[in-house]
Amino acid sequence: MKPASFDYYRAKSVDDAVSTLAESPFAKVLAGGQSLVPSMNFRLSTPSLLVDIGQLDELRSVAATPEGVTIGAAATQYAVESSAEAAAVVPGLRAALRWIGHRQIRNRGTVCGSLAHADPAAELPALAVATGATMELRGPNGTRTVAATDFFRGPFWTDLQAGEIITHVRFPAQAPNVTTRVNEIARRSGDFALVGVIASIGSSNGSVDTAVLSGFGLGATPVRLTAAEGVLHGKNTLDEPARMELYEAAYSDAGDPFEDVHASTEYRRESIASLVVRTATAIIDGSSEKGGRS
Ligand SMILES: Cc1cc2nc3c(=O)[nH]c(=O)nc-3n(C[C@H](O)[C@H](O)[C@H](O)COP(=O)(O)OP(=O)(O)OC[C@H]3O[C@@H](n4cnc5c(N)ncnc54)[C@H](O)[C@@H]3O)c2cc1C
Repeated sequence: MKPASFDYYRAKSVDDAVSTLAESPFAKVLAGGQSLVPSMNFRLSTPSLLVDIGQLDELRSVAATPEGVTIGAAATQYAVESSAEAAAVVPGLRAALRWIGHRQIRNRGTVCGSLAHADPAAELPALAVATGATMELRGPNGTRTVAATDFFRGPFWTDLQAGEIITHVRFPAQAPNVTTRVNEIARRSGDFALVGVIASIGSSNGSVDTAVLSGFGLGATPVRLTAAEGVLHGKNTLDEPARMELYEAAYSDAGDPFEDVHASTEYRRESIASLVVRTATAIIDGSSEKGGRS
């Protein structure tokens, strides 16, 4: 299908984008267009005006410091994935980005666009929640900062108010003793995940003292698997009884995942529990589970 007719405006600056968005309640931000344009083609979205921020140099930066990585709204997923500096400070970024679609998608799609889109099966919202990322928003009433944990409200629904844009997202630096892996199940390579997990696990003196497990493809927003995290604390290996305990905790953390044509609730629950066990075992015991995609 073709999209309904719309006007297009290439913003000259962030202020210009914000003031143009304020002129029409049916205007939408265009970044990489990798989610918005398909949804317009299906007429799931019929904006009257697209305000393109994808060409703004002031939003293109990927800045890595010892404190974290700050990514502008025009920075593509591939620009972040290919930044060695960003990968050194927040290794989870590259690990998560590699699971997104294909190189062609990541070449146009932006990190902030994925966060704004808030697909429940997307990797980056789950990473943002797992790592304690914060979003900087600019709108008609000025600038504000929102924690990822407060940003995601539901499927394709965020804390963004009318006329607001994400200008930047900040991911805090990962502690040196922490390892992050991303693992997911999809029907075909490059498809959206049926379910997936971001696991950040750290040890000191031989036993786990940090465990963050953020699941996606399960509910309306990323789901922290807190019972499973609790099982990991203090472990120095995952033997058979520990793996069973972890499986059961993750299974119960999953709650009642949604059901669709691709997978049942039970399939998603069992899959996330298995993924958690495999991914945590790979980190703690260094098993051969790959848990990555290149
Ligand atoms: C074939 C295919 C496979 C894909 N596979 C995956 C996958 O496996 N995992 C995954 O996570 N994603 C996947 N995607 C989606 C991809 O990651 C998108 O690029 C991303 O979700 C949206 O980023 P974008 O820059 O393209 O945003 P756009 O499509 O331009 O915008 C998406 C939405 O966010 C809003 N928006 C964008 N930027 C901002 C901003 N800075 N401030 C406020 N609102 C904003 C837009 O108004 C729109 O509503 C896939 C896409 C395709 C086409």
